[in-house]
Amino acid sequence: MSRFWSPRVHQLTPYVAGEQPRLPGLVKLNTNESPYGPTPRALAAMAAAATEDLRLYPDPEAKALRQAIAAHHGLRPEQVFVGNGSDEVLALVFLALLSHGAPVLFPDVSYSFYPAYCRLYGIASRTVPVNEAFEIDVADYGGPCGGVILPNPNAPTGIALPLPQIERLLALQPDRAVVIDEAYVDFGAQSAAGLVARHPNLLVVQTLSKSRGLAGLRVGYALGAAELIGGLMRVKDSFNSYPLDRLALAGALASFEDDAHFRSTCARIARSRAQLSAGLQALGFEVLPSSANFVFARHPHCDAEQLAQALREQAILVRHFPLPRIEQFLRISVGTDDQCAQVVAALGYSISSMTRSRCVGP
Ligand SMILES: *Cc1c(COP(=O)(O)O)cnc(C)c1O
Repeated sequence: MSRFWSPRVHQLTPYVAGEQPRLPGLVKLNTNESPYGPTPRALAAMAAAATEDLRLYPDPEAKALRQAIAAHHGLRPEQVFVGNGSDEVLALVFLALLSHGAPVLFPDVSYSFYPAYCRLYGIASRTVPVNEAFEIDVADYGGPCGGVILPNPNAPTGIALPLPQIERLLALQPDRAVVIDEAYVDFGAQSAAGLVARHPNLLVVQTLSKSRGLAGLRVGYALGAAELIGGLMRVKDSFNSYPLDRLALAGALASFEDDAHFRSTCARIARSRAQLSAGLQALGFEVLPSSANFVFARHPHCDAEQLAQALREQAILVRHFPLPRIEQFLRISVGTDDQCAQVVAALGYSISSMTRSRCVGP
């Protein structure tokens, strides 16, 4: 606390990002990064962009990248907004589209950055409980509100909503923005991008961080009617005209030029996810049905925080959220097949030693 801080700063509860330690041999399955690098074409494009031209500002409108993203999704460039990671895009979305004086609706079990943005801007929010199976029921999202935001697949559950449910949600809130955060959609869910042309209230947010192996580059984007994108542009140009630097623009553009790498890495991750889930189930874990590049699992007898700690002692990082309803779950990112086998083996070892000592038995 400091007397120099603006009053609002005292009220903030910042989002806590997963840790990024640099330890040799660490199996890092805590932040849903891709175990595979980006396409080599992205690396080559960035190397080629690292020239004297860096003295010049980048394109404030990111025209070439927006064109490529639009083409990938069958949309027009005016329907695409880009930002410094989808977290930045989401931050601008809350200010530009979700601040209407009425509470913003999002699930109680969801991305914990949403409440952080609400506190930052002083936007009221109302959490809508997911059901006992941790599923979202879109029928719960009607009535007056400032807008709706939810991840699909949801984070950290990994559970996906089918497109007809998204359409039902859009119909329930025709006069408010409905934001679908598709950070994990490429791993097996249906994207709502194809609905943008028919639904003026839909904004789809995606990122290059997970499915394109570029978390370190910081590129995210939003797809929506030109009217929604225009609102985001106004806020962006009142805040930072150049959220994407020359290297990021070049690397991101090249990523969209290598569809084969993108598709094959996503498919590999989906196959490893099935193996990881099966391995965890064989150890007695309940694994929620995941369409993402992580699984969310709980053990009937072993405490999740203790398990996370036991894994850490074996140089494996997973994520544990000490939050209501999900404090007994571990979120495990899908790594390579080898990494998935390592985490299953380490959990097997931990569970057998815990059931002998610390574990609360049935
Ligand atoms: C990872 C994640 C993001 C943010 O991704 P960026 O790296 O900022 O693009 C957004 N939403 C959800 C639900 C995520 O899990």
